[in-house]
Amino acid sequence: MITGRTKVFALLGSPVAHSESPALHNAWFARAGVDAVYVALETPPGAALDSILGRLAGANLTIPHKTAVVPFLDDAGADVRATGAANTVVWREGRLHGANTDVEGFGRAVEELGLDLDRGTAIVLGAGGAGRAVVLSLARRGVRRIAWLNRSQERLRDAIDASGAGAVIEAGRLEDFGAVAAESTLVVNATSGGAAASVAALPVESLPTGSGWVDLNYWMAEPPGLDRAYSQGLRTQRGDRMLWHQATLAFELFTGRTPPA
Ligand code: NAP
Repeated sequence: MITGRTKVFALLGSPVAHSESPALHNAWFARAGVDAVYVALETPPGAALDSILGRLAGANLTIPHKTAVVPFLDDAGADVRATGAANTVVWREGRLHGANTDVEGFGRAVEELGLDLDRGTAIVLGAGGAGRAVVLSLARRGVRRIAWLNRSQERLRDAIDASGAGAVIEAGRLEDFGAVAAESTLVVNATSGGAAASVAALPVESLPTGSGWVDLNYWMAEPPGLDRAYSQGLRTQRGDRMLWHQATLAFELFTGRTPPA
């Protein structure tokens, strides 16, 4: 039952109507007996985040607020400092604590593919917030070479400068995919929906047998290239796995408890 003491958590972003987070967190709150609710709040760019956050117990942030929220944090976790972005915030003793669960959430998801990540090259498509988190996560999990491909070379250079990743990074454009595909152990599509046609045109058939293909766009019915990669016998994964691990990490930050089974 919702009372005057019920804690309110929210997803802040635009768009958020497609999100599965409210269903997941509310089910976990109910099963764990936590007096809280989770809602998706459509929050356009430029919204007064500090004022909105002041009325919540905590929140997840998605496009376009992951970097915009950072100046409002009192404490930033290590992955927020490494990526310049936060996607989970929670109030603790009057201080707003921020975390970036993209990094660990992706890392836990990609481990499920059982690939030898310390061999060959990982290809990361996209140098936005998600791409940055993926590169950091892969470097932490022993990937030594990363071909980081992005449309904007300026944005890519900024991302590489900020990454501090312990892997060798080769910068390129999506069009360079064919030149690095044969050496690849893993491809991660961290571009957003606008890049779908470009990703669909990539020569997936050049990838070696036994390599993996992950598409972070959990909200797409048919992520570009994923079906072709699967038909070729590659180990494929949709973004739902990363989302699941991120939600688990967020629940732990919100409540201090692991989600019920
Ligand atoms: P973002 O910061 O806006 O970055 C978007 C990326 O896509 C940039 O690299 C951008 O290239 C590229 N792009 C966009 N339109 C393009 C086009 N027409 N042609 C070529 N490249 C294009 O977004 P983000 O936060 O990184 O998120 C990326 C995607 O990952 C989103 O769809 C998001 O839903 C998904 N995601 C999923 C999870 C999960 O849990 N599964 C977590 C985080 C994000 P430029 O730099 O050249 O603009």
